[in-house]
Amino acid sequence: MSFTMHGIGVSGGIAIGYAHLVSHATLEVAHYSVPRQKLEEEYARFDEAILSVRQELETLCGNIPPSAPGELAAILNMHLMILNDSTLSVTPKRIVEEQGCNAEWALKQQMDALVSQFEGMDDTYLRERKTDVVQVVERVLKALMGHGVGASAFSEENSILVAHDLSPADVILFKRHHFGAFITDVGGVTSHTAILARSLSIPSIVALHHARRLIRENELLIVDGTQGVVIVSPDKQVLSEYRLRQETWEIEKQKLKRIRTTRTATIDGTSVDLHANIELPGDIEQVRESGATGIGLFRSEFLFLNREDLPDEEEQFQAYRLVAEGMRGRKVVIRTLDLGADKSIAGETRTSVNPALGLRAIRYCLAEPVLFYTQLRAILRASKFGNVWILVPMISNLSEIMQMLGLIERAKISLREEGIPFNEKTPVGGMIEVPAAALSTYTFAQKLDFLSIGTNDLISYTLAIDRADDSVAHLYDQLHPAVLYLVARAIKDAHRAGKPISVCGEMAGDASMTRILLGMGLREFSMHPSHILSVKQQILKTDIPSAMPITSRLLRMEDGQKIRSLIQKLNA
Ligand code: PEP
Ligand code: MG
Repeated sequence: MSFTMHGIGVSGGIAIGYAHLVSHATLEVAHYSVPRQKLEEEYARFDEAILSVRQELETLCGNIPPSAPGELAAILNMHLMILNDSTLSVTPKRIVEEQGCNAEWALKQQMDALVSQFEGMDDTYLRERKTDVVQVVERVLKALMGHGVGASAFSEENSILVAHDLSPADVILFKRHHFGAFITDVGGVTSHTAILARSLSIPSIVALHHARRLIRENELLIVDGTQGVVIVSPDKQVLSEYRLRQETWEIEKQKLKRIRTTRTATIDGTSVDLHANIELPGDIEQVRESGATGIGLFRSEFLFLNREDLPDEEEQFQAYRLVAEGMRGRKVVIRTLDLGADKSIAGETRTSVNPALGLRAIRYCLAEPVLFYTQLRAILRASKFGNVWILVPMISNLSEIMQMLGLIERAKISLREEGIPFNEKTPVGGMIEVPAAALSTYTFAQKLDFLSIGTNDLISYTLAIDRADDSVAHLYDQLHPAVLYLVARAIKDAHRAGKPISVCGEMAGDASMTRILLGMGLREFSMHPSHILSVKQQILKTDIPSAMPITSRLLRMEDGQKIRSLIQKLNA
């Protein structure tokens, strides 16, 4: 039976493919069907992986250095016993046969069954052995993935991921894959999960509420990321209609590419800078293709997610250097850690009543000065290799700026003492993300070299709406008069203080907001690379002297409905 579901489209485009239901635990383990005639090959692939892990463990056992702790040999021997037990080396093949699924999936199911058996044991020692089972299974999974994941049977491009909820850390893992689309039950339009969905450049929808429950594995889906609509089991007529729309969308995208190398300027000749937002060093490939002239926001905290340990100064330095060098002298704004709220590092035990208002971003960094200092040293070292700028998130008062500048100075002194080169004039800026900062822009600008408005958080904190909470997503309004007032005021006050200011929140990448931002005086935008061309197209068609009077009228309005109609007129 065909049915339609409505959510919030967070990344445009149309995808047609088969549902693949995922949960956090199974993100990295592919699940696909294996045809009967290929089952023998699947058993062989599994046996081969078991054999290679056995050899690996035996080699490790035979090469234990004398200085290693005594328990190491005992642990490795126990892992060998777990591996050789038929529950791990034989039962998964039975599951493959019964379910016609791939070996990884069978092994994952068997692991879950064993883990829950261990968890039910009274003896603490035995209960803790579940960790060893997981470690052995992880080794086998790695070996299986190294032996060809049976890619012929499973096409990622044809898969539409259906999840109840995904954290930003989960979504960042998708960058290693090429799924067709991704839809979730929960999430707000500027939640970090949605922003990352956009960064994958695949159609995505959040806030579908019951998708994970109503959609079945392998069901055919159409995902219209622009309209926020999912059609489950479409009939032939609907399917062909959407195939046509998909083609039109692709043609439009190709056409836009023609303006990639055109100078970004308005009709009246005003130059505008279009920069890109990135999460990981690997994203710069896409930045170069997009035609962006720099990186306006590198969300560095993503280097810290999905891992057990923290990247040390050297590892961070290498990552920042890679981006600085990769951009060949173009601006690279590295935002210092924005941890807390929906992004936390492994082992973080602090609990907060209201994390979005708690120890987040600069507050977190000042509470963890060693972590912050390490990052500042790494960024400063990278400044020698390109045009690096430092941006600090979520500042709300002057004392935070003074403490942060003090730490940067200390990092510089230590580098000088060690004879490590860096750019002495590395610009330091702050993000305008809370109303207090927007109202203090002029004061903050006296101490900083530049500013950047994080509209995602600014809207959230102005309207008191949690970005990640879809139950209040309908109240999240970038055209709320208070939001427009704060953005316009911050731009004006930064310019009055003679300091550059940009917008790096999602508002910058929304072509329907380009003219009003230009009318407010904004000349620097930073957005996901996939939005650069649509915003550029709008800039090329804008005459600032004509946009300014309408913008001034808009800023005097109090009625949301009237603002919306005037924006339409402005964009016509
Ligand atoms: C913002 O808040 O607008 C911003 C750019 O930062 P983030 O989305 O990472 O919180
Ligand atoms: Mg922010």
